[in-house]
Amino acid sequence: MTPQHLAPAPSRSSRRLAAAAALAVALPLGAAAPAAADANFPSAEGRTSISSILTYDDVVQELQQLERTGRYGVDAFTLAEAGMTVSTSEQGRDLWVATVGSGEEHVWLQGRIHGNEPYGTDALLALLRDLGTNGSPEYELLREKFTFHVIPMYNPDGAEANIRHTVLWDQVADAPQDGTPQRVDLNRDWTPTGFAADESLAFYEYWTTVDPAWGIDIHHQGLKQQAGTGDDVTLSLGISLAPGGPTLPGIRGGAYDVLTRQMHVHVYDELAKYGSITMDRYQVGGSYEIDIKGGVVSAMMTGLDHGGMNPEGHSNPVVFFETSGNTSDGSLGQRARGKSIRQNVLAVKELLLGVATGEVQEEDPERWEEIPHQPVTGYSTDYAGTIPVG
Ligand SMILES: [Zn+2]
Repeated sequence: MTPQHLAPAPSRSSRRLAAAAALAVALPLGAAAPAAADANFPSAEGRTSISSILTYDDVVQELQQLERTGRYGVDAFTLAEAGMTVSTSEQGRDLWVATVGSGEEHVWLQGRIHGNEPYGTDALLALLRDLGTNGSPEYELLREKFTFHVIPMYNPDGAEANIRHTVLWDQVADAPQDGTPQRVDLNRDWTPTGFAADESLAFYEYWTTVDPAWGIDIHHQGLKQQAGTGDDVTLSLGISLAPGGPTLPGIRGGAYDVLTRQMHVHVYDELAKYGSITMDRYQVGGSYEIDIKGGVVSAMMTGLDHGGMNPEGHSNPVVFFETSGNTSDGSLGQRARGKSIRQNVLAVKELLLGVATGEVQEEDPERWEEIPHQPVTGYSTDYAGTIPVG
């Protein structure tokens, strides 16, 4: 993208005002609260203060501070500094990564690929702070076993605009008569015909230089209730290529089909010890499992080779977490902020420790069925519509 296509950088306060105005339109006061909503967590109170949501500048400052103050070698850098061919967002923002740890196994930790899903950023920065400063045996083990690649804000343009997508502003300049700029869901852009957005090209190239062993991706979802109990779900456990579905069992002899389920079984057991966390399996449309191939972490699992950058076909398993409540629906629940972030930190930490100690690899993958979910009636795909089960 050429410099004249850079949108003028608005001041921080004007950006906040613009975001607040957008929210005001999207969130009429007095919107009906869903039935059975817990008044506290997650909240349907219809007011989401964005003043405490981290901005891009907040993230850069925090990363630089952690690099200065971390006792255990936090290295924060831009993808330009890492030497990537494409290294900035569509609006020209630097894309940031932080590494910590010295283990042979590289772990990819990614948040806020959807700009309006904020707490992956908070959770990963909190985890990075612990990894950089905490001298306890648990964190010693994690730093010894793993090298972490922490991406707290994959989609800075979407985050600043409080929208899911990134926007291809330069296409407006190329074809101004078209009016509306094209929006790209970065989590559907790692496909053979995709890579429309610079963020995708930049992080894909970085992924091919890291060749991680596995990873975690953090998202938000709308409010939902647990199958069977009707309790408000605070955290859903997801795998973007459905276990036992059309795709995952065929990868690496089914190894990821087993390991991803073991990962979530472990998280489910560990987090069940905390009273305030109500979990289920991530499903869409009530009873569909997702099987999307263009999701970043799906493409990692299938070992996508884009532009000849992954000729050896490296692949790695990844699971994701979905915190209930999002800014778009006004259901984020300001009072639940601390708990929402904390459940992600706990989930990531327990999963890291579980893999480091080998407990995850000992779990019974069949117990995936014990995690509350609706009976599966089909697979929601991005390549063949909805595929019914059986
Ligand atoms: Zn998301």
